[in-house]
Amino acid sequence: MNIRTQLTFRYIGIVLFVLLAMYFYLATMLKDSMSSHITSELEVQATLTREFLIEELPAKDNFTYDLIDPLVDRLGKANNARVTFIDLDGVVWGDTERDGEALRAMDNHLTRPEVQDVIKKGSGIRDRYSNTTQTEFRYFALPIYRNMGAEITANEEGILIGICRVALPMEAVNTAIGNLRRMALIASVAGLILTIVFSVFSTGAITKPIQKLTQMTQSLAAGNINSRVPIDSRNELGQLSQNFNLMADTIQEQIDEISEEHRRSATILTNMGEGVLLVNGASEITYANPTAISMLALPDAYMGKALIEINRIPELQALLKKAEETETIASTEIQLGNLREPEAEITVVPVSAGQEYVIVIHDVTKERQLERIRADFVANVSHELRTPLTTIRGYAETLLSEDSVRTKTGEQFIVKILNHSARLTRLVSDLLELSRLELGEVELKCVPCYLNTFYEPLLDVFEPLLEESGLVLKWEIPEKFQKVNVDQQLFMQIFVNLIDNAIKYTPDGGEITVSAEICSREETEGSNTVSDEIILSVEDTGIGIPMESQPRVFERFYRVDEGRAREMGGTGLGLAIVKHIVLSHNGRIWLESTLGQGSIFYVAVPL
Ligand code: ADP
Repeated sequence: MNIRTQLTFRYIGIVLFVLLAMYFYLATMLKDSMSSHITSELEVQATLTREFLIEELPAKDNFTYDLIDPLVDRLGKANNARVTFIDLDGVVWGDTERDGEALRAMDNHLTRPEVQDVIKKGSGIRDRYSNTTQTEFRYFALPIYRNMGAEITANEEGILIGICRVALPMEAVNTAIGNLRRMALIASVAGLILTIVFSVFSTGAITKPIQKLTQMTQSLAAGNINSRVPIDSRNELGQLSQNFNLMADTIQEQIDEISEEHRRSATILTNMGEGVLLVNGASEITYANPTAISMLALPDAYMGKALIEINRIPELQALLKKAEETETIASTEIQLGNLREPEAEITVVPVSAGQEYVIVIHDVTKERQLERIRADFVANVSHELRTPLTTIRGYAETLLSEDSVRTKTGEQFIVKILNHSARLTRLVSDLLELSRLELGEVELKCVPCYLNTFYEPLLDVFEPLLEESGLVLKWEIPEKFQKVNVDQQLFMQIFVNLIDNAIKYTPDGGEITVSAEICSREETEGSNTVSDEIILSVEDTGIGIPMESQPRVFERFYRVDEGRAREMGGTGLGLAIVKHIVLSHNGRIWLESTLGQGSIFYVAVPL
């Protein structure tokens, strides 16, 4: 049911209710006032009639119909009412409605309620249906007294000789009520018609703006953002329409902003060098920028296709799985045959975990090429420097041993040349080694071996140094400890570099402890995959490394204290070499250090 019909029904209800209430009120009022009017008229007429009858009536024993009935008829005519005279036995001696035989045949009226009331209470008033006249009457009866044969005085009551009864028809009341009812009915019908006409016009004024609003909101919902409602009035509906228009304006502004933002993002995504893919929880592609399309050689109908169907990249699937499990960014570097360029860094970013992921493919071919060029260059230069350096050292050593250098200064110069060329040789060989590791030119010759096999050779290298500095090397790896599958020569280099640093940066009298333990990967990294690894540690009681330098010590040429490191004969490449060796063994390296207390370097290699 629409608002218009609802309002119309409500108006009709209100009008009918008011009309009915008025009808009942007026009917009651009319009935009451007419009734009291008839009663007072009856009282006057009955009193006058009684007075007349007291005067005119013969003695009781002389009652005859011929005497009394004309008297009564005269009174009835004069009063325009029905008048009846009844004696104490209930015999009706005169009645305006009956004459002759009919009068004589009338019922005994002693049992009539108004007659009974007169006998019991002195007067009687009743509304009754008259069997005699077949109409509704109001009867008013009064007693008639007379002194038997004596004069009537005003004070004397006399003897009751009969009852006079005056009746007026109640028809007038009923007719008036009937008229009122007719009037009410006509008023109701007229009111109803007026109400319908009024409600059609007045509700139209309310429902029309609402209809327009409804149409506008439907149009808005259908995406027609330009639709607005005309404002015809200043009332609440006008206000509502205005608010709707304002709301539509705001929505339009926001949509414009979003569209602009979208255009900008689309331009960036279309023109960026990185490939960007959006996939849903089922790894189905929901977006791919042109770079991603060409990098992954996506077919035309790639939208909605599962990534695995189009491009079988196991690393990418694993990365997606990892991002889903950890709900964090996961990235890896891969080489793919079906990428336009073979080397790429892939990052998976969960947008809403389990539901949408952004995959960013960064082509790192050029960077790798540049790195290779740099490493090549360094390797070549180092290689080229080796021969002249050897020659310089050879000549310097020869000069020193010959008698030709006689002056103190000359000897000092040659010792300096020797020291510097030795340092340069170390630097060149470290650079060469690092470059070879970076270029992947070092072929790993992994064999399972006990860690204790490194102990003796290490002692050979470091014993003099340890003794010189008064340091103790504690080797805490038990005999026959778990074997590791490593390139022995390179692994030796790890030990050498770490212990060399520990000796260099630990003051005299300190301790260096080498130990190892087996750990499962889950315990160490919190990952779900459990894989065992050996964790080696080289701990010293040295100067320690400040917090801010800790993440940088594995960089090439990074030194915490430049002067001190150089003084110690370091090249600044030791830890970079260690890191590369560890990475080539698929291991990890990290450190813990407290300034002034010592450092622990950890190396983890998978079993
Ligand atoms: P260097 O040849 O200069 O020792 P490394 O690459 O081996 O170069 O080390 C880089 C820097 O890290 C060092 O210069 C030193 O400042 C710091 N470092 C390395 N090992 C230790 C250690 N055990 N204790 C304190 N500092 C250290």
